Amino acid sequence: MFRPSTRHNLPSSSSNPSLEVKVNKRQSGIGATAGPSARYPYRLNFYETPPTLDITLEEFETFAIARLRVLSQIEALSHRSLPYAQLQGAITNYTKTHLNLSSNTARNVNLDEERRKDEIGHWVLRLSFCRSPDLRARFVRSEVSLFKNRFETDDVNERSSFLKSLEFDWQVVDENEKTRYERELKLCMWEKKDDAFRNESWFKVPWYTVPDLVGSRKVFVRAGMAYVPQSLQISLVLQTYASRLEKALELTAKNLPRLDEDERLGPVIDHLASSFLSGVASADYQSPDSASAQGVVTAEMVDDVARKHFPPCMRNLYDRLKRDHHLKHFGRLQLGLFLKGIGLPLDEAVVFWRRMYGATMSDDKFNKEYKYNIRHSYGQEGKRTNYPPKSCQQILTQNQPGTQDSHGCPFRHFSPDNLSAFLSSTYPQIDKGSMEMRDILDSVKSTHYHVACTRVFELTHGVKKGEGLGGNESVAHPNKWTDRSRELEREVLERIKKKEDSDEMVVDS
Ligand code: SF4
Repeated sequence: MFRPSTRHNLPSSSSNPSLEVKVNKRQSGIGATAGPSARYPYRLNFYETPPTLDITLEEFETFAIARLRVLSQIEALSHRSLPYAQLQGAITNYTKTHLNLSSNTARNVNLDEERRKDEIGHWVLRLSFCRSPDLRARFVRSEVSLFKNRFETDDVNERSSFLKSLEFDWQVVDENEKTRYERELKLCMWEKKDDAFRNESWFKVPWYTVPDLVGSRKVFVRAGMAYVPQSLQISLVLQTYASRLEKALELTAKNLPRLDEDERLGPVIDHLASSFLSGVASADYQSPDSASAQGVVTAEMVDDVARKHFPPCMRNLYDRLKRDHHLKHFGRLQLGLFLKGIGLPLDEAVVFWRRMYGATMSDDKFNKEYKYNIRHSYGQEGKRTNYPPKSCQQILTQNQPGTQDSHGCPFRHFSPDNLSAFLSSTYPQIDKGSMEMRDILDSVKSTHYHVACTRVFELTHGVKKGEGLGGNESVAHPNKWTDRSRELEREVLERIKKKEDSDEMVVDS
């Protein structure tokens, strides 16, 4: 089983020496210039041999998170009912940004470094996702989709060398046998012309290794063997990859208790699994960028911004605050950090919260008990930590709300009836009994909360289904919803202004 080396007493130049462990530069490929090494001869990988290289704890976590993001995105995309080409295009684009793998012919790229990151991320996630049948199934599904995307976009020659290296136990059907079963084989082909049949080559494999092809009658079965055409080779490869991965995960699950000895790896592994279960990989958010890009929000502006640009979780909190002039601790925290992220400065935050509490609270009580907490969340009191706004993953998994609480995510924490009533009353674009509402509730039922939230964004912003926040991105952070929403509004306003300017020029001339 893959077990990362975590040595404690190595000299380190990093700022956190306790986390530093040995990095073997020769094995890792760091410093290499170009071209694949013997360790990573192909872009494609079945991940059959656990890596024995040394890695740092930081790499252990960051490589796994990078891969987790990709798998989460793939899972989200596959539940958005996109046309095949759009789905594959979206996966390719996302993977390029977060976990790119170049082909052997690529120039000025450190292939080993890319492949090492890919490999380590895969093996770390195995540790996280081997723990239950449900996790294993979701992991295998997403990994297979990722492999399929890479397989289809791989260089043809490199792909065939990779397949040869796997030494599959496939029997090639010779010409005599092919002619003997010509009639049956042609029935399995789309193109039944003689030419097409002559050019096609066939493999024989035990029928139970390709149940999807047998079920859809795409192969001829005789004496326990399925005759698979070359054109369906990918199905065979994916099936093999999936079944090997499933078996390997079961084996890892049996060995996992040994990892409990290491108290530093356990929390990382637990966190990765819970991120995936909540449907989103943790998404970092840079609030200063947002503030400068979108401009400062004043206390006066919050109501308008809330109506137009708040995601459901924040809209719920804001509406409850407006109605009750009160929010419990975690609600205040969730909304307060979000508001900081959209560009509400500290002094305006104090004005905003004072106004919202209104006459229900004396100035004295506000100054003593609440003002301190607001300043604290802006890093002006206590440890002076500038806390970031909470991501969807944190909202979905931490501090589960009780019946009296308003924080959390409506998609996860509301009953279906309450969610449907909340969405239809908050967003007039979504009717209670509509197809769209049914779609949203279906996604929630299958625990794909971010898919449901992304669909609400599309419907309320006139965005084409599948586009998400732009470039097929799913909602993974409430502040990203608001940033994108404000950006779309700005684009519309700029278009209107341009049109007015050009109309004026026509009148003037
Ligand atoms: S998915 Fe995220 S942004 Fe959407 S409502 Fe839930 S927590 Fe808020």
